[in-house]
Amino acid sequence: MFKVPDLPFKPALLIIDLQEDFLPPNGSLAVPGGRDVIPVITELMALPWHAIIASKDWHPKNHCSFAANHVDATPFSRLPFKSPAGTGEVKDEMVWPVHCVQSSRGAEFPEEFASSIDKIDHIVLKGYLTDREYYSAFQDVWGLHHTELDSVLRERDITDVYIVGLALDYCVYNTAVDSMALGFTTHIIRQGTMPVDPNAWDSVTVKLQSKGIEVVNMNDELVERISKCSSRRNSTVGGDSAAASHRPVVPSQSFHPISS
Ligand SMILES: [Zn+2]
Repeated sequence: MFKVPDLPFKPALLIIDLQEDFLPPNGSLAVPGGRDVIPVITELMALPWHAIIASKDWHPKNHCSFAANHVDATPFSRLPFKSPAGTGEVKDEMVWPVHCVQSSRGAEFPEEFASSIDKIDHIVLKGYLTDREYYSAFQDVWGLHHTELDSVLRERDITDVYIVGLALDYCVYNTAVDSMALGFTTHIIRQGTMPVDPNAWDSVTVKLQSKGIEVVNMNDELVERISKCSSRRNSTVGGDSAAASHRPVVPSQSFHPISS
């Protein structure tokens, strides 16, 4: 009898910006309750994902998203920014307290995460180009500079992306939207993320669902599904293991060409 072949299921765990500056009590841009996601994420990391990838916000000191780098601007206000492509297009963007400056304490993973860091296959840096904001771990807000995240997922034949980390209403949301648009079945694990604005849960969930992105619970069903994953990570992905260094080097030659 004809048997319908099982669809491939190669899930990746994508951990967004789990960095001290986004965590209470000392983070300069701490997400309320942000530390509560750490045990959830470390528990998830014990499962047999096909890949575990983490992103880091990684800004130079003179980054344009810091209010301190603009005359008379206060954190959490909005300023107009011109497109780095020189097209004259202007976007209003929020400016923030100084955060996640390259190689600073605030840019580090939290201590509670230390024993899990060697499970990370690759660290994606974002935010290192001075003249533009990044929320998504895939690209800047203009869609001009693309990180290596898409190719890292494709090299590993990933089918499903499960996203956790900080913060739900900015970097997690925008990463999820791009992930889905790039063709990955995309899920956000509710207990593994928190919003900057505690009231944002409902509105963000509705927007995600309208784009086909599922918000799933960290429950037995999810754990069981990933646990059954036969596509265990193998040694071939170890070559670029990010575990050896908590201070990744900003890539200098990996910029994708500016899209037209
Ligand atoms: Zn940032």
